[in-house]
Amino acid sequence: MKPKISDPKRLRMLNLILDRGVSDPAVLEALARVPREKFVPPPLRDRAYYDGPLPIGLNQTISQPYIVAVMTELLRPAPHKLVLEVGTGSGYQAAVLAHCFGKVVSIERLPALAAQARDRLNALGMHNVTVIVGDGSLGFLPRAPYDAIIVTAAGPSIPPNLKDQLKPGGRLVIPVGPHSQQELMVVERRPDGSLTESATMRCVFVPLRGAQAWPEA
Ligand code: SAM
Repeated sequence: MKPKISDPKRLRMLNLILDRGVSDPAVLEALARVPREKFVPPPLRDRAYYDGPLPIGLNQTISQPYIVAVMTELLRPAPHKLVLEVGTGSGYQAAVLAHCFGKVVSIERLPALAAQARDRLNALGMHNVTVIVGDGSLGFLPRAPYDAIIVTAAGPSIPPNLKDQLKPGGRLVIPVGPHSQQELMVVERRPDGSLTESATMRCVFVPLRGAQAWPEA
């Protein structure tokens, strides 16, 4: 199923994502509806629908649309689920999650990015997203446990706190590996409480920095 889109650039981006195998209708609908140009710095707005990461300041990036789609699909979104995002950045991934999940908690370590993302999400009327400033490598205990956790920065290993904050049946998607390239890992907590881990694809993300991640630069 393909959502209706009038903007040709957004349509091209969506077709590319469909061609590369993303098929969850809720994810495709979310990508069709979120105005990505509102999440990139004004001088880069004409490149908002290019399928690659773009700089958002403070040495950070807004992720490639295809990766946003893949990671969201791997979380198995549903309207009754609660998701934690680690690494709010521009707020774009949080906006996509807000369309596919019931509630979104998004945590960002850089206060300036968190404030900007919060303003953008409010302006779009996305009231099911809460943006928090903090070290997301520790998760966010006050709202735990989560049906899904997505980490949009790469750690040297999977933070134990994030595994602990997954509900039975919950899924964690996180890039893990050295700075040059990482594996996109999926951790699933089985109903009996045990954990499975699998590698899905290679990717490149900015570092996850924190108590259970890379040290501060
Ligand atoms: N999801 C973002 C978006 O849609 O624009 C892209 C995120 S960017 C690739 C990675 C973000 O993770 C950066 O904003 C960075 O500051 C943040 N980050 C890195 N370590 C973090 C940590 N321990 N806790 C929370 N945020 C962290």
